[in-house]
Amino acid sequence: MKHTMSSDSGEVANHAGKRPRLDSVFPTIQGPLTDVKHDEQLWYPDGNIILVAKGVGFRVYRGLLADRSEVFRDLFSVPQPPDDETVDGCPIVHLSDTDIALREFLLVLLRGKRYSQEDDPELDLLSFRIRLAHKYGVTSLLEASVSKLKALYPSRLAVWQSMRHTFSPRAITAVNLAHLTGTLTVLPAALYCCCQLPDATLLRGATHPDGSNDCLNQDDLLKCIGGKVYFAQEQMQTICFLFLRGEASCSHRCPSKPSCKGIFNKIHSKALARAWERDTIAWAMEPWDDILNKFDPRRHRPDSPNMLCVACMKRIDEMIEEHFTSMWDGLPYHLGVTLDDTDKWSQSGTEE
Ligand SMILES: [Zn+2]
Repeated sequence: MKHTMSSDSGEVANHAGKRPRLDSVFPTIQGPLTDVKHDEQLWYPDGNIILVAKGVGFRVYRGLLADRSEVFRDLFSVPQPPDDETVDGCPIVHLSDTDIALREFLLVLLRGKRYSQEDDPELDLLSFRIRLAHKYGVTSLLEASVSKLKALYPSRLAVWQSMRHTFSPRAITAVNLAHLTGTLTVLPAALYCCCQLPDATLLRGATHPDGSNDCLNQDDLLKCIGGKVYFAQEQMQTICFLFLRGEASCSHRCPSKPSCKGIFNKIHSKALARAWERDTIAWAMEPWDDILNKFDPRRHRPDSPNMLCVACMKRIDEMIEEHFTSMWDGLPYHLGVTLDDTDKWSQSGTEE
């Protein structure tokens, strides 16, 4: 079965390059339909096409599929040979996807299922949506799902700083989805998150509930190996630069330099201890608030002991912000990500 694909299906699809050929999307798998289990949610008795994935049949509506998916539209535009496999007059289409991924895709397509990131912490569902929307040419779903991915791995420092970060194998999934869809601005933040993962996790990849596994390619693994070393060194340099030279960190308006210098030494010890904690060695872009807040006079009663003066506190805040800005600007370079001219990095404006 051979079809000609059109490639004018919108920004994301164009950006990502060619979708797979139809004959790879619809493999010539033929299995006995007696073994096919009816899907509990998506088996409509009056449906007029049966999609089969991993032994599960989805009896749905051909017209709705054709309306929403370019690839199904192309498939259905080809007259079916009279001896093609049918059940109750319904043509059968065997797919190479997993039933779990196909169910999520069809629930969005046919029932408008909404996406909630809180219910999808490891991006399993987002991954199914993006992969199948890309494969079957559903531009609106692809664009909506890619914008969720961009929001999780932003290109603007202010957005990144407004988020709470947890590091998990989902970053590996994000890297692969960014490559698949050509969404390069996701890569720096996603690769930075990969650099925070233990080596064994980086090598094992991210396993999804349908049994599929996202692994980094060799090129990305090399970037992470280099990134881990770079971020670890950068974190140590930051600690020395910001906190070790206590006197140098003091504001010239400081009214109590001996006291503030002593506090900077304490901050330095705590920052070093945090850096050596397991798994945080490459934590170069994380805030210092958990340490600095204890010594911030603006957060405590005026007579509290062991506080920096307000002038020194403001100065250290400014130094940290300048440092983060410079680190963020250099993130694509240090992670070996080449962005196109049209790609925005660290620009003002809203995250797309
Ligand atoms: Zn001071």
